[in-house]
Amino acid sequence: MNLQGKTALVTGSTSGIGLGIALKLAEAGANLILNGFGEVDAALAAVRAKGVKAGHHLADVGKPEEIATMIAYAEEQFGGVDILVNNAGIQHVAPVEEFPVERWDAIIAINLSSVFHATRLALPGMRQRGWGRIVNIASVHGLVGSVQKAAYVAAKHGVVGLTKVVALETAQSNITCNALCPGWVLTPLIQKQIELRATDGDFDRARRELLAEKQPSQDFVTPEQLGELVLFLSSQAASQVRGVAWTVDGGWTAQ
Ligand code: NAD
Repeated sequence: MNLQGKTALVTGSTSGIGLGIALKLAEAGANLILNGFGEVDAALAAVRAKGVKAGHHLADVGKPEEIATMIAYAEEQFGGVDILVNNAGIQHVAPVEEFPVERWDAIIAINLSSVFHATRLALPGMRQRGWGRIVNIASVHGLVGSVQKAAYVAAKHGVVGLTKVVALETAQSNITCNALCPGWVLTPLIQKQIELRATDGDFDRARRELLAEKQPSQDFVTPEQLGELVLFLSSQAASQVRGVAWTVDGGWTAQ
């Protein structure tokens, strides 16, 4: 897999799945634009250690105008976005009648509307250059529901729908758009949910119970495995893979 000369933008790539995907893309030779908060320097150093050009943009993807600034930065500094991985996401857990309206709005903005904005802004450059890959990190929650996750499930179902529309609108081009639908991946986002469950401080039991409830493999998906799939979707072999919602969920949705 050789992605030399291509530029990838991975939203939310300072930790977890996004960072795992960015590292795989960098290993394949792609230049990287990272985005997200927190451990920016460590993420940049890890990607640069792969020998590629890397930058970071601090856009809050919940704000359309900041996504526009990030795409403009990509065009000015990297010549545009060839591979767009819409990954940034947040979670909030509460019953629907107690769900804070502000959390609903934030999840819809960050997990769903950001995918629309980044896609509509990156697509013209992809069309101009005649090649592009868009990979949306949805979730099993783009396909099935779970209690207490109204906003997240609504947003991820929206991402799967948007993926299909973009795939259809780009079907006669060298641009593809697909979604990955992971089950449990042990990242800071999930660690928070494990901590919420471990009211007695027994994190191992909470982790086992979380897996046992939904994921038949009883094992976590890894960011590296998702990165490998993004590489495959970026390859010529995947040029007719269009509009799929590809589960990587240890059997969760097979039940
Ligand atoms: P994470 O919390 O480890 O990472 C989230 C990343 O998004 C971080 O880099 C963070 O800084 C960034 N981010 C958060 N809000 C942002 C904003 N407003 N603007 C820009 N960046 C922002 O989470 P993760 O588990 O790696 O999740 C990544 C994606 O994968 C999310 O879309 C999540 O819904 C999805 N996902 C995760 C799992 C899982 O089990 N961890 C399963 C399915 C899908």
